[in-house]
Amino acid sequence: MKRAICLLSGGVDSAVASAIAKDHGYEIYAITFDYGQRHKKEIECAKKLAEFFRVREHKIFRIDLNEIGNSALTSNKKIPERGIEEIKNSRQIPETYVPARNTIMLSFALAYAEVKGADAIFIGANCIDYSGYPDCRPEYFKKFQEMADLATKMGVEGRKIRIETPVIEMNKADIIKKGFELGVPFQYTWSCYRGGEKACGKCDSCVLRLNGFKEAGFRDPIEYENEIQNQ
Ligand SMILES: [Zn+2]
Repeated sequence: MKRAICLLSGGVDSAVASAIAKDHGYEIYAITFDYGQRHKKEIECAKKLAEFFRVREHKIFRIDLNEIGNSALTSNKKIPERGIEEIKNSRQIPETYVPARNTIMLSFALAYAEVKGADAIFIGANCIDYSGYPDCRPEYFKKFQEMADLATKMGVEGRKIRIETPVIEMNKADIIKKGFELGVPFQYTWSCYRGGEKACGKCDSCVLRLNGFKEAGFRDPIEYENEIQNQ
């Protein structure tokens, strides 16, 4: 059976990317990072998703990116709250950017892929809703692929590990529709940047998620601080 490493954050995009990997017949090895994010709840969601997808293994790596800091997700910086249009039209890199996060995570995934002899790494990166993140662009993944081919024993021996970004060009609504089609349990996903019991409904991530569900024509099954936000 072909094997895939799936970066499973506990969010919507990585859940759908993992469901796509499963749908393509891969045996899944999931990895999640406890990197000091405020929204630790996503790690609990990742565990539930891993169970749901019946992954072969689920590794949780602890790497403290608080030591590096400088992101609203790993420090006391204010978490942005913007409207949907403002988020989509912004060309600035948001405060929630975590320095080199995808490079750090993909590097772990690459090492693990070699050990498991995996054929592919699935990452739920998306460049449509968050065009501001440099490490979510297709050209970034193309370069990472070149690097991976050069940097690994498998690559040199002609067994390249493919970097798969199945939702990269999809908008949030299409990702959610695809997820429903594949039976993704969205009640086990978490997007809010804040670490609250319920989702805040106001941070950029909540706004994008709520808008995506609305556009897709589905109700978001998770709880919000103010349920009026989810109607
Ligand atoms: Zn939120």
